[in-house]
Amino acid sequence: MNAPAPRTPEGHTLNGHVSHWFHDHGLPAPREPLTGDATADVCIVGGGYTGLWTAYYLKKAAPFLRITVLEQKFCGYGASGRNGGWLYNGIAGRDRYAKLHGRDAAVRLQEAMNDTVAEVVRVAEEESIDADVHRGGVLEVAYTPAQLTRLRAFHEDEVAYGDRDRTLLGARETAERIRVSGAVGSTWTPHGARLHPAKLVTGLAAAVDALGVSIHESTPVTEIKPKHAITPYGTVRAPYVLRCTEGFTAALKGLRREWLPMNSSMIVTEPIPAELWDTIGWEGRETLGDMAHAYMYAQRTADDRIALGGRGVPYRYGSRTDNDGRTQAATVDALRSLLVRFFPALARTRIDHAWSGVLGVPRDWCATVTLDRSTGLGWAGGYVGSGVATANLAGRTLRDLVRQDSGQGGATELTSLPWAGHKVRKWEPEPLRWLGVQSLYAAYRTADRRESTLHCPSTDRVAGWADRISGRG
Ligand SMILES: Cc1cc2nc3c(=O)[nH]c(=O)nc-3n(C[C@H](O)[C@H](O)[C@H](O)COP(=O)(O)OP(=O)(O)OC[C@H]3O[C@@H](n4cnc5c(N)ncnc54)[C@H](O)[C@@H]3O)c2cc1C
Repeated sequence: MNAPAPRTPEGHTLNGHVSHWFHDHGLPAPREPLTGDATADVCIVGGGYTGLWTAYYLKKAAPFLRITVLEQKFCGYGASGRNGGWLYNGIAGRDRYAKLHGRDAAVRLQEAMNDTVAEVVRVAEEESIDADVHRGGVLEVAYTPAQLTRLRAFHEDEVAYGDRDRTLLGARETAERIRVSGAVGSTWTPHGARLHPAKLVTGLAAAVDALGVSIHESTPVTEIKPKHAITPYGTVRAPYVLRCTEGFTAALKGLRREWLPMNSSMIVTEPIPAELWDTIGWEGRETLGDMAHAYMYAQRTADDRIALGGRGVPYRYGSRTDNDGRTQAATVDALRSLLVRFFPALARTRIDHAWSGVLGVPRDWCATVTLDRSTGLGWAGGYVGSGVATANLAGRTLRDLVRQDSGQGGATELTSLPWAGHKVRKWEPEPLRWLGVQSLYAAYRTADRRESTLHCPSTDRVAGWADRISGRG
């Protein structure tokens, strides 16, 4: 069952080219770069979900605002056009926020995330963005005794945070939904939907454009200073400059150790024929994940492929990012083996495309949204791989923070959530940063292997140590 899957024949797998999602949907027509110095009321750096949702909600709330978005390549070039399409209610750092601000504050944050899933679906409908949204919920499976122990604890924790619609499923009930080889149980929640990331981000950019926001593409910002976003083509001056660059933040001047660019890689199969789907099930099109330490995530696409992701090379020395999503052959092979480990019937299924992207990881693994009222600089991100829905909550929160600061509104429920204004220390300099992340993921892989082979009922000690040392636990 765990033997490496046969390699995809050379030349059949497209590698990089940003993502399958853009390859499938097509790249949008390019927008004009900035052509000289300019002024705005709000300047947003980065045209991913965070930047675009912020522009969307701000312009809707205050149509008179002059808002400029500066994007280094094209809208959706980053993680927003490359992700697994899990629109779900998870937010990085909830437990730490409970420790820092009390349980009730963390419950309010969780409730806001639950509502955010519906909010994204609502706006997509209202703006006629057809992003292949399917509200099938989220199914997370366990296939070792240790994973099952973690799954049950995770399930109880989520229920305690108010997810009363969540159900714990045994092996048979899991197989009635999706027949994952060797699955011993799962937990399902309705608070999630599958979507096509590139369709969402290009639709959102079009909606923002139509509202009258100026979007400049092919415009890299080299430095952000209070009231200034500096590019090779000119400087945008604005009272508010909002940094929405998540996994790319380290490339900006002075921010190298802010958020670590963590890599995540994906593969997508060819469209799978009906007779193979009969052996797999997955009619509910839930987003699918597991309870491994180096976890995987997957979706059944609208055109009946499986898109599956996980961590390949987790981090590049010096906080470098990938080249248009190009992915190492070993990572493609590992993801393909994982696919076949989950669904042995897919041993001969072709992998059409492989790609990678970066997500932002803060030193304490907590997502944040902030507006520094003394400088007018704001930012949001550090979603640690749970950014599809969280970016929407961030966008609405940045809207409220800017409106509050500029005297257009007061404090709101969103500005009082515990992740607003959270401060986090920087990552260690190299080579400690690189060594730390390599060790963390080596520990996770070791723990996953030991849990699979030893069949121990509890989490392997190595993973527990790694969590504590990394500041994650
Ligand atoms: C492979 C992968 C799979 C994932 N799967 C999921 C998932 O299924 N569910 C989930 O919830 N989350 C997932 N995530 C995380 C999620 O996609 C991100 O957290 C989210 O998209 C971040 O949005 P963003 O707008 O903050 O950042 P990005 O989408 O990365 O956008 C930042 C934008 O800023 C631009 N930019 C960067 N630097 C500059 C600069 N100097 N000047 C101008 N522009 C700049 C970039 O080109 C980019 O377009 C995944 C991430 C990856 C990489």
